[in-house]
Amino acid sequence: MEKYLNTAIQAVEEAALICQKVQQKLVTEDTLIKKDRSPVTIADLASQAVICKTLRQAFPAMPIIAEEDARSLRQPENKHVLDKIAEMLPGMDQEEILASIDAGNGQQAQAFWTLDPIDGTKGFLRGDQYAVALALIKDGQPVLGVLGCPNLAPQGGGQAGLVFYTSGQGASYKAIGGQQAVPVSASENDGTGALRFLESVESGHANHGLQGSISAPFGANARVVRYDSQVKYAVLARGEADVYLRLPNPKSPDYREKIWDHAAGVAIIRAAGGRVSDMFGKELDFTLGKKLLNNRGVVVSNGRVHERIISLIKENA
Ligand code: AMP
Ligand code: MG
Repeated sequence: MEKYLNTAIQAVEEAALICQKVQQKLVTEDTLIKKDRSPVTIADLASQAVICKTLRQAFPAMPIIAEEDARSLRQPENKHVLDKIAEMLPGMDQEEILASIDAGNGQQAQAFWTLDPIDGTKGFLRGDQYAVALALIKDGQPVLGVLGCPNLAPQGGGQAGLVFYTSGQGASYKAIGGQQAVPVSASENDGTGALRFLESVESGHANHGLQGSISAPFGANARVVRYDSQVKYAVLARGEADVYLRLPNPKSPDYREKIWDHAAGVAIIRAAGGRVSDMFGKELDFTLGKKLLNNRGVVVSNGRVHERIISLIKENA
């Protein structure tokens, strides 16, 4: 497992640094650029290219199921986008970039990688939180997770830019490119006091109304914090929140969660002592391709309050 973990961390760190550069440019330049989605496209594709390249070199036989592909990038009218990506990746020529991105079109197998090169693209464009999320799934379970969180600061403050990962039986974080590991664990909060809740910034990605009814009895009105991306898993894994609710939005009843939006977070939260299920308390099923077809919504907790939250959802939904 050591080689898998070290390779995954190295790949995510390299991608996170590229994303940081693009986002910093985006935030410091004018808003015209923010309305244009091309910066996120460039960072997304560059992130996928470097991660798939590293994974393929180290584990040539292991399939990768990633969010992006190079189809539109191969169109002549998008040559300028490919040129920009190539500028960011001086070690790769254009053919290698395209081939590496398409290495993410793998098929499900007994063991495979799943990658979201930029999770939380809306947050990325706003200059807020986003994550680079890579997980190894074995026999339908995320057994290794690495979450690059370029805009998340260490506990107690300091320079933003962390990577969370599963290690041995536990979970830790460290500075991107750093050495010193900080072990993390989910909170011990049993719900007798107030609970701290997390949810998406984007109202279209969840049911903020229903989530408000679940959190209200816990005196949580002022304690619902919104972050984009799997940064929510990272924050819960280090005990700064107790529950993350992602209940289906009534406007998209047929939406099914994507495996790469959860796999890395699930591995880390479990390693930190927390628990994940769907809104009915069912285990997430990662054996059905790109989507969690057998599940609806996602509920993440410190473990101790999980059953109570699931019962409350049953009563309120
Ligand atoms: P978040 O930043 O936690 O809101 O999650 C971002 C992810 O939400 C994206 O990666 C999308 O794959 C996913 N997403 C898009 N539409 C929906 C939807 N209707 N319901 C739930 N998730 C969605
Ligand atoms: Mg995503």
